[in-house]
Amino acid sequence: MNEPTNATDAKPAIFLDRDGTLNLDLVGYVRTVEDFHLLEGVGQALRRLRAAGYLLVVVTNQACLAKGLLSEQGLKEIHDHMEHLLGEEAVSLDGIYFCPDHPEGTVKKYRGQNDRRKPEPGMILEAAEHLSIDLSKSWMIGDTSRDSRAGKRAGCRTILLTGAELSEEQLDQPADTQHADFTAENLLDAAEIVIQQDIGPAQGQQLPQKKPFRQRPTELDTRQLLSDILRELRHQRIAPQHREFSISKMLAGMAQCGVFLCLIMAYVAFSYWSGRALLICLMIGLTLQMMVVALLLVHRSS
Ligand SMILES: [Mg+2]
Repeated sequence: MNEPTNATDAKPAIFLDRDGTLNLDLVGYVRTVEDFHLLEGVGQALRRLRAAGYLLVVVTNQACLAKGLLSEQGLKEIHDHMEHLLGEEAVSLDGIYFCPDHPEGTVKKYRGQNDRRKPEPGMILEAAEHLSIDLSKSWMIGDTSRDSRAGKRAGCRTILLTGAELSEEQLDQPADTQHADFTAENLLDAAEIVIQQDIGPAQGQQLPQKKPFRQRPTELDTRQLLSDILRELRHQRIAPQHREFSISKMLAGMAQCGVFLCLIMAYVAFSYWSGRALLICLMIGLTLQMMVVALLLVHRSS
């Protein structure tokens, strides 16, 4: 354990979530370099924050490792690519911290819960210790309430991004904005909030307010919606087919065939046989029809 940071040496930092904050998060997990695309304005936002004197540190949950979807080497290649893209934007990161664990992971060494996985603050505290960061002068910026809660627990101020790339969590739980000190549409707006809060608004500029959630019909919204629909269809593709079949439904089908057979026999009895045979056929057919109704009710309730 390192010695506590001397407050006079400690630097302010911006802790950044990765997916949905720095890059597009449209496919659930970024598994390849080709999946990684920086969001518009990210380079400019980070340059502004760097110029204002903040360290830039990425803290990201990467449960895809726990789920066996990506190796540590694959993640390193993606992060190398991210730093290359940021380098082209004339900005660099001071640290990248990731948590590969997940309570339901299929890879044994990554299965479990710990204090590094957001919303726990472990990665932020770890970075603060390594890089001599003053958490009270720092910010956590991310696109989910997990990021805001982690930042709050670490003692940072927080900004929740609510822009075009709304996450499933934000769509389901807009009330989670309560964990954030500010909301911003994108990282560039968030950088503006940070600078105005800590350095002061430029002359004539208004201080940004906590913005309400709003959804705009942009192309990215449409892509997000299509992605969500596809993911939901993939999840439900097999289950509904299984739910359609049941023993009671099969027996109902067989009984319905019996009803049709009884009707044919009743017609033959009416034409060629006695009235008693006709009555028997109709009684059997009626009984079978009642069985069909009962079996279908059992199928629906199961
Ligand atoms: Mg995110």
